[in-house]
Amino acid sequence: MKIVVTVKLVPDPNAEKRIDTSTKRLVRTGVETVLNPYDEYALEAALQLKEKAGGDTTVTVFAMAPESLKETLRKALAMGADDAVLLSDPALEGSDVWATSYAMSHALKKIGFDLLIVGGLSDDGSTGATPGALAEYLQTPLVTNVRKADAEGNSLKLERETDTGYQTVAAPLPCAITTALTFGEPRYASLKGIMGAKKKTIAPLTVGDLGLDREVGVSGSKTALLAANPPAARGKGQVVEAADGATGAKAIFDFLKERKLV
Ligand SMILES: Cc1cc2nc3c(=O)[nH]c(=O)nc-3n(C[C@H](O)[C@H](O)[C@H](O)COP(=O)(O)OP(=O)(O)OC[C@H]3O[C@@H](n4cnc5c(N)ncnc54)[C@H](O)[C@@H]3O)c2cc1C
Repeated sequence: MKIVVTVKLVPDPNAEKRIDTSTKRLVRTGVETVLNPYDEYALEAALQLKEKAGGDTTVTVFAMAPESLKETLRKALAMGADDAVLLSDPALEGSDVWATSYAMSHALKKIGFDLLIVGGLSDDGSTGATPGALAEYLQTPLVTNVRKADAEGNSLKLERETDTGYQTVAAPLPCAITTALTFGEPRYASLKGIMGAKKKTIAPLTVGDLGLDREVGVSGSKTALLAANPPAARGKGQVVEAADGATGAKAIFDFLKERKLV
């Protein structure tokens, strides 16, 4: 089984996010780039499946990002992915979700996969729209929020987390899934893994390799970001000093009641 995992390279989630007011884009310089946290769970799912399926199962990680961020992908290789593919091209700059997913889908078609595992959400763009858009462009079934997966012949048996429990779903291969954070904590890269990752391949792809039949980048995008604003500053909180628990609870109840929240 050939498993491909999409891994977005994002600014360190712990660093303060800044928007360049002229381009309205996230400032990525001066901030460490890391693997998108959700995608580490997606990779963990792929590695678990590979361990269970054994045989000739392989795990390839795929990213669309500037070439300068290539080395960030080594962490995924150190965790256990077999190889990586990086799609980079100045023509992709300014691509919205529509254009990004279009370019990514062509790259994924070229790489080929039996199972595509996509993280549920990026830490920077956070639209959560990429998995659905990829499935549409690739014309593949998509099962979201998967917490457990088992290969059974030419199909997958999946458990999908819902608000009220979980569903058991079957999907034929090839298909795409997104993973729930309950799939399992991403593993740490071992020293052996880190050393081995240095020799693994990160294959380059450019727009010219994809045979696209329409534009990407700004002119191939259907949306435009009009403004990006920080959340409004919070008003001063109300401090209630209560003599005991019961008085405190009453004060909270009255506060909520006044606002028709209880
Ligand atoms: C008008 C406009 C212009 C933009 N210009 C730029 C730009 O110049 N540069 C830029 O970096 N972004 C740009 N963006 C943002 C970019 O379009 C999104 O980051 C991208 O479409 C993915 O959306 P998302 O981040 O919301 O991912 P989500 O949909 O939240 O991500 C879900 C999952 O999809 C996968 N995924 C998403 N993106 C990638 C990727 N690139 N590689 C691998 N896997 C991925 C990951 O597995 C991720 O967990 C622009 C957006 C708009 C609206």
